Amino acid sequence: MESSFTAGKSLDNDFRVFVDEYAHDSVDVVVRAANLGEFRTMNRGIAAAFDGKTICALSTPMGMGGIAVIRVSGPDAFDLANRVFSKDLAAVESHRAVFGILRNAAGETVDECLATVFRAPGTYTGENTVEFGVHGSTFIQTEAVRALMDAGCRHAGPGEFTARAFLNGKMDLTQAEAVGDLIAAEHAGAHRLAMEQLKGTFAKEITALRTELIGFAGLLELELDFAEEDVEFADRARFDQLLETLIARIASLADSFRKGNAIRDGIPVAILGAPNRGKSTLLNALLGDDRAIVSPIPGTTRDTIEDTCVLGSSKFRFTDTAGIRATDDALESEGIRRAWQTAKRASLVLYVLDASQDSVAEANAALNALEIGPETDVIALWNKTDLADAPALSGWESLSIAAAEGKGIEALKVRLEALGLTDDSESSIMVTNLRHYEALMESNASLVTTRSGLSNGIPGDLVASDVRQALHHLGTITGEIDPEDILDHIFSNFCIGK
Ligand code: GDP
Repeated sequence: MESSFTAGKSLDNDFRVFVDEYAHDSVDVVVRAANLGEFRTMNRGIAAAFDGKTICALSTPMGMGGIAVIRVSGPDAFDLANRVFSKDLAAVESHRAVFGILRNAAGETVDECLATVFRAPGTYTGENTVEFGVHGSTFIQTEAVRALMDAGCRHAGPGEFTARAFLNGKMDLTQAEAVGDLIAAEHAGAHRLAMEQLKGTFAKEITALRTELIGFAGLLELELDFAEEDVEFADRARFDQLLETLIARIASLADSFRKGNAIRDGIPVAILGAPNRGKSTLLNALLGDDRAIVSPIPGTTRDTIEDTCVLGSSKFRFTDTAGIRATDDALESEGIRRAWQTAKRASLVLYVLDASQDSVAEANAALNALEIGPETDVIALWNKTDLADAPALSGWESLSIAAAEGKGIEALKVRLEALGLTDDSESSIMVTNLRHYEALMESNASLVTTRSGLSNGIPGDLVASDVRQALHHLGTITGEIDPEDILDHIFSNFCIGK
């Protein structure tokens, strides 16, 4: 593989940067971690950040707490940590903690604390690592980090510990992203998806798809080498079948995004209904807070108002929409257009009716006129049941509430939790990340072009180029190929210290 790298430029003694002449045009730099003998493609920004220096950062949130953890990682972790610590950490066994005194450059005691030693390569980053567990005062946190920087550590950038884990081959990109998701998970659904991705299940599936495609690409490339002899190594019928299978598998992964995204970021629920039925009051009752403006004047909610809350093990994203009615007002019409747009994207529509005002015939007409997708559930909510009893509705699931008094809200929440559980119980691979979804769609588009190219008998070199495109897009998911800026983007969204 080394032969395919031309111009070598040394960043530092440990790491070399090569320009890969065969790579796709958006990939330009390959870094070799010389000590690991491994190649990793990466973008120049990250390459510069990965300077072989030993880095440090506070890994727990800044603020007062029982303890705080300060992480040090890099080739000189033990030497530099020794400059601030009273015990010789180079002599400590891996995964062992020792008690000692942490001092600043002036020799003043900053804290009495524990230092845990992790020896490369069996560490999170793949480098030598020390974690100081100090008393969680903001003063100690700042002073300890300052002492380590005075000793020669560089302060870590956002996500740099995880970026190093990726660069040192400890995890692929989907796993690195899962670490970010895991930290951000606020509920059981998001946690389960992040854990699943961290295990590498999704990455394995992508690698399997790529491997099959690489075999196919190899045969095509071989044919190109023998172009003059006009041979076909690759059986066209088998290719077509392989492509059909791959396209279907990738499409089903891409399809899971709607659900996966809903679990991670909140199941979309649209609150719809004519003006003044109590939609805003319902949103406030569900969120337990005065989020939306409640007003007796019809047409007050002209735009959509969105907020999320966790019910049971799922997160919900509620959108209060403009009341639906015929209107000449341009602003109100735009609000209504957005209401329909929200309804189309929602997993569930809560259609609010007024028990004191709407007839069953009116309710049915409104529900039948709903512009929603085939996967959207609908629950009709008879509101204001403090004023009148809810009429019976056939053909639609319905519940009685009095949003202003909070009556029936608990029952509605129980119903929502159940809806969340159905989404949650599926254990197959689910795509939750927009970047992955887009790469899958791009890759499938290239495979569809490849397939039609094959059946139309277009020249082999064009077919091969389409296959390379598909491979490239799949490769960006796991990080086997990293287009410019993807790495920077991923890791810059992390917090410092991770
Ligand atoms: P929206 O236009 O559908 O969002 O309706 P609002 O939430 O702004 O409510 C319209 C009016 O209905 C307000 O005056 C609310 O106080 C009133 N309202 C909402 N829910 C109830 C309820 O359960 N019972 C009664 N009696 N009034 C309600």
